[in-house]
Amino acid sequence: MKKTPKWYAIVKGKCPQCRRGDIFTGSSYGFNIQRTNTNCAHCKQRFEIEPGYFYAAMYVSYAMNMVEMISMGFATYYLSGGRLDFDSLGWYVGVIFLGSLLLSPLNYRYSRVILLHWLSPKIKYKAEYDQE
Ligand SMILES: [Zn+2]
Repeated sequence: MKKTPKWYAIVKGKCPQCRRGDIFTGSSYGFNIQRTNTNCAHCKQRFEIEPGYFYAAMYVSYAMNMVEMISMGFATYYLSGGRLDFDSLGWYVGVIFLGSLLLSPLNYRYSRVILLHWLSPKIKYKAEYDQE
């Protein structure tokens, strides 16, 4: 029996229990707004294991946002060859704002994936579900 690698399940947004069913409908960047499925189509694991469970994903999303914004700030500085100093604050605000906007679908998706795969002790990978 072949196990689905964890990194694959995380990158692809698969169910943490069977690593086969999709957590989300659609892709991050599509015409349809992505939604979180209620249950895994493959193993029936409920994703929102308690009411309001995904509020916790906001903290994950917040941490991701901070890392992204700081990275974008440094990237802006280095890509401009250090020419953008404090007087060019508008550049930083613009780049960080636009970057955050573009990354928000990914943050929505991966904050929930990280919550379900790494921060949910109640949900464990079960190899017996990881098959057709
Ligand atoms: Zn599943």
